[in-house]
Amino acid sequence: QKEREQLQYLCSANERAPRADWTGKFDWHEALNDVLRKQYGSTASFRPMQREVINATLQGRDVLCLMPSGGGKSLCYQMPALVREGITLVISPLLSLIQDQVDRLQNAGVSALAITSLTPKEAVNDMYKQIESDPALKLLYATPERIVSAKRFMGKLEKLYKSGRLARIAIDEAHCCSQWGNDFRPDYRKLAVLKQQFPTVPLIALTATATEDVCQDLKDILQIEGCERFRSSVNRPNLFYEVRTKPGTAAELSAAIAACIADEKGASGIVYCLTRKETEQVASDLQEAGISAGTYHADMLSELRMEVHKSWTAGRLQVIVATVAFGMGIDKPDVRFVIHHSMSKSIENYYQESGRAGRDGQPARCVMYFRFSDVLRQASVVSLEPGWQPRLMKMACYAAALSSCRRSFISRHFAEAPAACSGHCDCCCRAEGSAGSRNITTAAQDMAGTLDAFPSSDKRATLNQLIDRWRSAKGVGSSGKAMSRDECEHVISKLYYDGLLSLEMGYTAYATNAYIKLSPKGRHLLQGSKLQVQLEVLRRDQEDLAAPSKRRKKMLAADAT
Ligand code: ADP
Ligand code: MG
Ligand code: ZN
Repeated sequence: QKEREQLQYLCSANERAPRADWTGKFDWHEALNDVLRKQYGSTASFRPMQREVINATLQGRDVLCLMPSGGGKSLCYQMPALVREGITLVISPLLSLIQDQVDRLQNAGVSALAITSLTPKEAVNDMYKQIESDPALKLLYATPERIVSAKRFMGKLEKLYKSGRLARIAIDEAHCCSQWGNDFRPDYRKLAVLKQQFPTVPLIALTATATEDVCQDLKDILQIEGCERFRSSVNRPNLFYEVRTKPGTAAELSAAIAACIADEKGASGIVYCLTRKETEQVASDLQEAGISAGTYHADMLSELRMEVHKSWTAGRLQVIVATVAFGMGIDKPDVRFVIHHSMSKSIENYYQESGRAGRDGQPARCVMYFRFSDVLRQASVVSLEPGWQPRLMKMACYAAALSSCRRSFISRHFAEAPAACSGHCDCCCRAEGSAGSRNITTAAQDMAGTLDAFPSSDKRATLNQLIDRWRSAKGVGSSGKAMSRDECEHVISKLYYDGLLSLEMGYTAYATNAYIKLSPKGRHLLQGSKLQVQLEVLRRDQEDLAAPSKRRKKMLAADAT
């Protein structure tokens, strides 16, 4: 009998908790409503998918919860902690994220603790005592390092488990497990130990990154193969997506961004730059244009960084000009715009970065300044990350599109059916038929010839070398002569999107350079094949870049009524 009990005890959370219709009414229905109203007011309601996720984890199932940033993932493990006995262990990657949540919970009168590398040793001792003796303690936050390298902490968890007080385990930002994700953290991989040590404790993994390979990876690592998977749409209907051609000089670009921000009438926003130096230049340009802007990047002292973040959150600073170091942990609901000074390194990154706009559900805009040379700049930054090429290429294709909906592009990328855009992107705003196409086959062949004539054994060139050589070519193959540098760049970019060109990195002691090369498919251009190349172009009268914004304003005004 005893043995059987033991066995029963050992079988996993999922085997003990039956599946159910998670939209149904469970015993805890009213208790949840009460807690929600207490926290968010008498008219509060659950956001899409929250109640289903909570039902499944309260039933005892392992859960994988995929929700866009701002979707309300924290609630999915905080509420269950509040309506049940015992302690919920929350693993989160960043100290700032943890501190933020614990402060909030404590302010709301919820007993929560964080044990991190910043916790003084004496405090840790007190906390360990509290974990053992305080029945009111609901949430215990820790970084993965704690689990992986602090034996004493694991010991405490074992004790909780044996006494039946470890109610649930939540892994926030669970994509950090996967090397396919953008924030891979080696310690997250070792979290397999949680399911091994605590098989009967329901585990809930939460993330905003939702590509298939990342999901599969994190299910394997966390050992929750049979989990219930919930996914709310990646579509953010209140975001307006737009890509603008990046001006040729830094000064023009800063001026364009300042004008774009001036349209927002003092509302909060973020400008993302590729390099630290750029953040400083752009912030100073914006300040000169009378905009209150501060910088945020990894080279700043952490106190200063925190100060900037705080002033911005409190609304004393209008704009943060940042590198992507300004990332997880931003929880400001009323961000009205996210402007990309340079492209992101992948659609996932762009989705997360731009997704920091409009978390309150009110209209917000996501503007990316783009030109092909940025693909090469970004390539030299990310070229040591596995699988960077296709991700960067896809990001570039998003940016280069002139007539196909940007929102649909994002939906399809995350394997979702295209979402209705209702004119909430620049492409959908353009009048139908405004984009035409031009046959650029001859130019493409000339360009391929120019590249092939490069003397080095591997026949590659930087973008500038290639354009220079092409434009100075004489006789046959001299179509480059009649084109501006921008036009040449345009043709080259198109061949890259079509897979006729590829990038190759060259490393010196001082720099990483991106070189352009003909791909095997591109070599057909040299051999007089019938390969035709079409370039999508805007009709002249549609090239007024301000047009989509004007239309957008009209549309948003119509929405508001
Ligand atoms: P995520 O982790 O998915 O990015 P958060 O859990 O940080 O999102 O929630 C984003 C914001 O939305 C927070 O300020 C949170 O308090 C708020 N929120 C979440 N769920 C609800 C709800 N049902 N009603 C009102 N506000 C909510
Ligand atoms: Mg979160
Ligand atoms: Zn659209």
